[in-house]
Amino acid sequence: GDSLFHNVPRAPDIPVYATTVAYNKDPSPNKLHLGIGVYRTEEGKCHALDVVRKVEQMLANDLFADKDYLPITGMAEFNKLSAELIFGFGSPAIKENRVTTVQCVSGCGSLRVGAELLAKHDGHHVVYLPEPTYGNHPNLLSAAGLSLKTYRYYDPKTHGLDFQGLLEDLGTASTGAIVLFQASGHNPTGVDPTRQQWEQIRQLVRLRGLLPFFDCAYQGLVSGSLDADAQSIRMFVCDSGECLVAQSYSKTMGLYGERIGSLSIVCKTADVARRVESHLKLVIRPFYSNPPIHGAAIVTAILKDRDLYNEWTTELKAMSDRLAKVRQQLYSALCSRGTPGDWSHIIRQVGMYTFTGLTEEQIDFLTKEYHIYMSSDGRINIGGLSSKAVPYLADAIHNVVTRT
Ligand code: PLP
Repeated sequence: GDSLFHNVPRAPDIPVYATTVAYNKDPSPNKLHLGIGVYRTEEGKCHALDVVRKVEQMLANDLFADKDYLPITGMAEFNKLSAELIFGFGSPAIKENRVTTVQCVSGCGSLRVGAELLAKHDGHHVVYLPEPTYGNHPNLLSAAGLSLKTYRYYDPKTHGLDFQGLLEDLGTASTGAIVLFQASGHNPTGVDPTRQQWEQIRQLVRLRGLLPFFDCAYQGLVSGSLDADAQSIRMFVCDSGECLVAQSYSKTMGLYGERIGSLSIVCKTADVARRVESHLKLVIRPFYSNPPIHGAAIVTAILKDRDLYNEWTTELKAMSDRLAKVRQQLYSALCSRGTPGDWSHIIRQVGMYTFTGLTEEQIDFLTKEYHIYMSSDGRINIGGLSSKAVPYLADAIHNVVTRT
């Protein structure tokens, strides 16, 4: 007979994965994969960190490794170390026990758990997202029941921040509204506020009683410094106000498939933090009961050992340096071809991405004629671009821009 699901229509593809599928099917030897945000080697493979391989060997040799369930909130040592990494070792908020941190299923899981918690409690049901933002933000936050609004962020004319627009939009948000910020290396634009601008944003957020929710997926990859890339968050923690932080180790330790991250909630008092944590358990339990061990074990081993930590930060710095180098190479390649237009935003933007300003039609052409795969908003994943592919990409961009 008919399937019980015969009424189910086909759902639309999820663009970033559809691009990957199309890339994988393409037999061209020249094809370039600049879509999904994965840091790749010169050979195009997902980059695994040496320190992670080493720690995994150690874990595999540990015959007494625990296979028991973790607590609902995850591995306690992982949570403590993650909070120190993001808020800074010796952060007063941690010392005063005002922070609750729970291990979650990477950045996405952390955002969703935070959103579920907020949606269950009064006063925080509207969330403002930067326009544009990471493609999964609207899904994650609306699935939890929050209503979405946007604030102006990117100015296509300058390829930079629309700071005035941002201040105006947040200036009209009502008390209690959540504001999602990306801590550094904004996806997809590569545009971050300056320190002075963050300070103005902070004052406005506090003045209006908004609730900041930081998403931090690139700590250390943007500037090469873990502290500098967490600066925006730390400014909001210094003022003793409250905030949420979703942390991801996908990019910073190359642990994409291990799905490891954390959610921290900074509260006014230790008592509030404990009560908030009790509700986080009620959110997590019916989702996936408790989180997996392996990713947390890797991160914990690296963060708690001085030598392994140093190996990690050295590798992270090298990755960050390579992103900056490839960025510069792409810019220089366009300059040397005399490609019409001002491309300096490529080197002004930071982190894993550059927001090229190429149109959807131009991108279609790049895919059809050059086998170049990227998102339709014009974002290029610099982490997926090797130095040796830069001339090919620059030729392609030059040709699509000068085509009549
Ligand atoms: N937040 C931002 C800004 C991202 O760019 C990403 C991934 O691209 C994520 C969160 C989520 O990644 P994950 O769930 O792998 O940690």
